[in-house]
Amino acid sequence: KNRIEEESTKKEKRKRAEIIPQPLTHFSQLQTRYHVHRKVCDNLGDQGYEMPTEVQMGGLPLLLDNSGPQIDLLSVAPTGSGKTLAFLIPVINAVKRERGRAGADHKEKGVKAVILAPTKELASQIVNEGRKLALNTGIQITMLRKGMKIGDQGTTDDRNGHNSQKSDENAEKGGEDEQDDHKSKPEMVVKADVIVSTPLAMVHALAGPNKTVGNLPTTTMFILDEADVLLDPLFREQTLSIWAACSNPQLRVSLWSATMGASIEDLAASQIADRWAALPQQETK
Ligand code: ADP
Ligand code: MG
Repeated sequence: KNRIEEESTKKEKRKRAEIIPQPLTHFSQLQTRYHVHRKVCDNLGDQGYEMPTEVQMGGLPLLLDNSGPQIDLLSVAPTGSGKTLAFLIPVINAVKRERGRAGADHKEKGVKAVILAPTKELASQIVNEGRKLALNTGIQITMLRKGMKIGDQGTTDDRNGHNSQKSDENAEKGGEDEQDDHKSKPEMVVKADVIVSTPLAMVHALAGPNKTVGNLPTTTMFILDEADVLLDPLFREQTLSIWAACSNPQLRVSLWSATMGASIEDLAASQIADRWAALPQQETK
């Protein structure tokens, strides 16, 4: 009996080894193993980062490996352990890769990644870290503010940055009266590769006329930072409505948290399972 158990443990281990890639032990492997764009690696090095933290060692290979199956990830690691970079590096790299492939004249439009965080402070920290990492890549990272709309997904071609810059300025001038007379104001339409937002600002930005919820058809990466908070009762409904708006069948979700209760884990797992079940058969292979 023991031998049978031993054999099945070995088999189980082999199966795990096929799925779980080797950990990343030095940031130089980003370039050598995963062909992360050189500018992204340079930006990382310029900030003095050399050795990945534990959550980066384990998480980056899973999120950067294009040869294996694409995965959804639930990652739990203590506060201060470097979760932000663990999700930002794959996001920035994926956007850069896609923009490169689409070519200069034929850029794919629309928001590629949505990062949710429970507070404005946290969202703005993520934007700052993201912008440092995306320096000189042309990738645009924007924080959603009150009064901004995500418009014309995939149908417009103003990707020069002027538009979004204007939106930022407008939003700052936008003041608190926006709720009373926002109908009379021109919409501040955001166009960015990566959007960072609180759930509330995102729900507002997606809201259409007559309470319809807009759609995020081009978004293939959905990141929940402090996922335990985003999925607790205070934010749950908003977070799940944004998740539901991510209609792209290629969507990959990652959840990041310092603590993860069983109920949150179950909720996340069932969300992901429901989505997979709803996909056409050939997508779920
Ligand atoms: P978490 O989100 O897990 O609480 P953060 O992403 O906010 O942690 O990172 C905490 C601090 O650690 C930040 O100041 C960040 O710049 C720093 N940091 C992240 N990764 C590394 C690394 N590989 N080497 C050194 N410092 C790092
Ligand atoms: Mg964090």
